[in-house]
Amino acid sequence: MNIIFLGAPGVGKGTYTGKLKILYGIPHISTGDIFRENIKNKTELGRDAEAHIEKGELVPDELTIGMVKNRLAEEDIQNGYILDGFPRTIPQAEALEKFAKIDVVVNFVAAESVIMQRLSGRRICRKCGEIYHIKNIPTQVEGYCDLCHSETYQRDDDKPEAIKERLKVYEKQTKPLIDYYKKKGLIVGIDANSEDIETIVATIRSKLDEFKQKPA
Ligand code: ADP
Repeated sequence: MNIIFLGAPGVGKGTYTGKLKILYGIPHISTGDIFRENIKNKTELGRDAEAHIEKGELVPDELTIGMVKNRLAEEDIQNGYILDGFPRTIPQAEALEKFAKIDVVVNFVAAESVIMQRLSGRRICRKCGEIYHIKNIPTQVEGYCDLCHSETYQRDDDKPEAIKERLKVYEKQTKPLIDYYKKKGLIVGIDANSEDIETIVATIRSKLDEFKQKPA
């Protein structure tokens, strides 16, 4: 299945995908991760994207769309994929339709207070990108990744000013996608307020199974 994960920043998309890609064996394509990788490697795309990301703004559509189009031309997507963080605007969704066939859109919903708490406590491994949270998903040794033992850090855009901007951008530019995909009959809703990640992942799986069995 070709799946889109939709939802506000901090709702947990990256965390759930991390678990699901292991279960389904399909690639997890996170536009945020691809941008961060490019920034780390100082590529031209990274340089163009960095200024926008730091401020909590979206990277311009033409850059983002081209990047996803190239990624979806790779061979490992034959058995499906999870798109996390794309599309984030209506023009991105319209462009995507021209080069991909999406089967289902999972929309995650959580209260704003939950989202703020998740974003401000989030820590990322500098090397492998594993996601932690100072309270909900603490590392065994403070400040170091459980998996590869590298240092963890707080993303610049997880600092208060950028968080506020990202939530504003979400409301204005990304939320309209819920209706867009509802009209196409592709939306599956998930309540992501719980801090019990395994339960949320189990719910996603059973809802995706149900969706697959539904006659088109
Ligand atoms: P989160 O979901 O926590 O906001 P991501 O890692 O998905 O974070 O994205 C980080 C940043 O990368 C976004 O705030 C935005 O600046 C940029 N970005 C990611 N995906 C897109 C996209 N589809 N369109 C434009 N900008 C994007």
